[in-house]
Amino acid sequence: MASATILVTNDDGIASPGLHALAEAMAGLGTVWVVAPDRERTAVGHALTLHKPLRLTRVRARWYAVNGTPTDCVNLAVKHLLPRSPALLVSGVNRGVNLGDDVTYSGTVSAALEGTILGLPSIAVSQEGQERFRFPVAAVYARVVARAVLQEGLPGETLLNVNVPNLPRRRIKGLRVTRLSRRRFENPIIEKVDPHGRQYFWIAGTRVTWVRQRDSDYAALRAGYVSVTPLHLDMTYEEVLEGLRAWSVFRPDRGVSGAQRGKRGTRP
Ligand code: MN
Repeated sequence: MASATILVTNDDGIASPGLHALAEAMAGLGTVWVVAPDRERTAVGHALTLHKPLRLTRVRARWYAVNGTPTDCVNLAVKHLLPRSPALLVSGVNRGVNLGDDVTYSGTVSAALEGTILGLPSIAVSQEGQERFRFPVAAVYARVVARAVLQEGLPGETLLNVNVPNLPRRRIKGLRVTRLSRRRFENPIIEKVDPHGRQYFWIAGTRVTWVRQRDSDYAALRAGYVSVTPLHLDMTYEEVLEGLRAWSVFRPDRGVSGAQRGKRGTRP
């Protein structure tokens, strides 16, 4: 296992102490390559840069900064830079949780998602907190999960989303396998007026309620556990397929194609 190549990335940028703690923690599991955005790219989601040149800047041996998104970093690393396909991709440790719906905005999770698309076992790691963090504690748990993934493997098209409470290590009770929660915001749009008298907006708001509490990532964190949520690349909602096919518009004899066939005698 010591010969495994491990790719480490994040969305907080190459200078983030969370990235450094993570890279350090992974060093014992294999040969670590770090390819990360050259600045903070939080909440860029799964964006890919298509309309400007990307540059790889070598910081030191096996450490590279990219003037792009986390998804750009993963692609450049896997498809161009690394000498072989990594055995594992780990993204983080992010400044702040990525719970529930957060995973759809998160650059941290999107980097792991991109790894999954490229066929790599991938893990996203985030830590609870606003200003002060305990990244070395999060990195310990990242390593625990990473080692398990290297040993057990992951099912196809699956990534793990890990969230670590902001607690001293002795107060963390262990790990829990969870599902995504859902949150509701109160006053999510803040309206203000600028010095020129024009209105502007902040997307802000405070999280007030969380639903889907049972077995949820949020509940695990609140109870002092590290949350580990398996996410699946295939977002198709299997249970709805049949119901949707029953809509008249989707029935071969009733939909647009049927209407056009009736009118013109040809398929669209
Ligand atoms: Mn971030």
